[in-house]
Amino acid sequence: MPLAGADPVRARAALDAERARLLAELGEPIEAPGQVTYGSQAAAASHVFEQQRDLALRDRSRIELGLVEAALRRLDDGTYGSCTSCGKPIAAERLEAIPWAALCIDCARKGSR
Ligand SMILES: [Zn+2]
Repeated sequence: MPLAGADPVRARAALDAERARLLAELGEPIEAPGQVTYGSQAAAASHVFEQQRDLALRDRSRIELGLVEAALRRLDDGTYGSCTSCGKPIAAERLEAIPWAALCIDCARKGSR
């Protein structure tokens, strides 16, 4: 039983939904710099700030999309639910909370230290 605790059908549904959400988010156009005329320095500054925030969010979405797609590949090759670092099964509760989790809780803790 390679998929210890993980329900591949539910996991795939969750990953597909998340993937669609992220793709929609990344598909939204971001206003190109230089297209807007600003009434004031402050307006320009706040606009730049918003743009940078949008880009940061987008970076995060792109990274998450990569994780989701990697998890879908692991579902296909039957390694989903195993830690990609130590190979131990990832806890079902963790996969339920983060369906694209690639690391068990122990490795995730080690990695973020
Ligand atoms: Zn691990």
